Amino acid sequence: MTLMKPSEKEDEYFAREMFEKKQKIEQEKQKQLADAERQKAKELHFMKCPKCGMNLVEIDYKTIKVDRCSACEGVWLDTGELTQIVKLEKGTLDRLFSVFSK
Ligand SMILES: [Zn+2]
Repeated sequence: MTLMKPSEKEDEYFAREMFEKKQKIEQEKQKQLADAERQKAKELHFMKCPKCGMNLVEIDYKTIKVDRCSACEGVWLDTGELTQIVKLEKGTLDRLFSVFSK
């Protein structure tokens, strides 16, 4: 077993510190890249139909906003909206969907 001289220990400490600093910088770069990618994806896909890529048209009905595709007529809901919709009375639900059929 070889004992490290104090200076070697110091070198190791600084090398490790330098490594951790560089590592942190790289991880920060990766995070920024991921954020940029996410932003780009959002700009590209926002209000586009997940199936055919055409524009969605938002319909406001009472407290619910339903997005409907202008091309394939698919209907998309935001988070929480499905729960709201299943709680609607049949009459209200019929009126909501009658908006689409005109
Ligand atoms: Zn579509």
